Amino acid sequence: MRAAIRRRLMRWYDRNRRDLPWRRREGDLYAQWVAEIMLQQTRVETVRRYYDRFLKRFPSVQTLARARRESVLKHWEGLGYYRRAINLHEGAKRVAKRGRLPQSFDELRELPGIGDYTAGAIASIALGESKPAADGNVARIFARLFAIEVDVTRGAGRREVERLAGALVPQKRPGDFNQALMDLGSLVCTPASPNCGVCPFRPLCEGARRGIAHELPRRSGAKRAVPEVTIATIAIRAGNRVLMQRRDEGGLWSGLWELPNAELSSGTEASGALADLCAKLAGRARGEPLEVAEARHVLTHRRVRFRIFAIDAARGPRSNSRVRRWVTAAELEKLSVSTAQRKVLAALERALEPAVSAPPINRKR
Ligand code: SF4
Repeated sequence: MRAAIRRRLMRWYDRNRRDLPWRRREGDLYAQWVAEIMLQQTRVETVRRYYDRFLKRFPSVQTLARARRESVLKHWEGLGYYRRAINLHEGAKRVAKRGRLPQSFDELRELPGIGDYTAGAIASIALGESKPAADGNVARIFARLFAIEVDVTRGAGRREVERLAGALVPQKRPGDFNQALMDLGSLVCTPASPNCGVCPFRPLCEGARRGIAHELPRRSGAKRAVPEVTIATIAIRAGNRVLMQRRDEGGLWSGLWELPNAELSSGTEASGALADLCAKLAGRARGEPLEVAEARHVLTHRRVRFRIFAIDAARGPRSNSRVRRWVTAAELEKLSVSTAQRKVLAALERALEPAVSAPPINRKR
């Protein structure tokens, strides 16, 4: 069975492999490292749009190590999960300091942001090390192929998938084997519907034989509801400038720029919280904060509703600092902001444009 799975999969892959930018650099560990970090929780089609541009700007681990955090975040902008970019940057600094790239799965595992799956993918593709890379795609395929009827995302089901992946990955072409499973999960044994008619595993597949493939993988327990939080955010304007502030390092959207804001707990009055914030940041204002728009953003662990306000400062812009800047529309374009913040800025621009001759404070690339 093991030999048949490998043989069938590799034959299929040699005819059907996707042409992806990182597959043209398979022996280049740095290029594979960048690709695997970008691909964490992000679709292949999205990564395609960023990958070459990032490598053009940071062609080697040394260039990345020398770059400023702000520049790395700017080139990551739109990909989301910015902690990945920060970890990649930190990892590059460590590697540059040591003077050589990681030589094994174990050395990759020591770098920030690299878990078993990512280390397995990089080590097998770039170093030819026989290590499995079992992500959600692989778990789904194995659940169907071996008719595993327990939840494969946790506990015993997860361990069984890892055991199978470890037993199946070959000594020869381990990187191609792992990539073949990724492609099969994306092109044939997809989440919505297994296309068994064109699948190389069809004669071996227990799920298809029993007629339960489309019911697998099974999920245990009800899906947890994702909580919603409300953030009141304010555009404080002075002439043709708007005040932006930088988030602290370490948390969500770490180090990125955004409009001043306050997370609202139940019972907190948005305009009151923002008036205090505004007074602290910009002194006296003309009138009260005016609610002008709304934007929404979904994260893996919560949904965010932004209530967007605007106000004009009574005086001109105050001086800039490392964490606060009064920026024009052109300067705003150069700051690193999250995808959520882009939505906020776009909603604000749409709301203000017809009524006020406000600067076009954001243009999505
Ligand atoms: Fe998935 Fe069908 Fe292939 Fe089985 S035969 S692995 S269910 S696509």
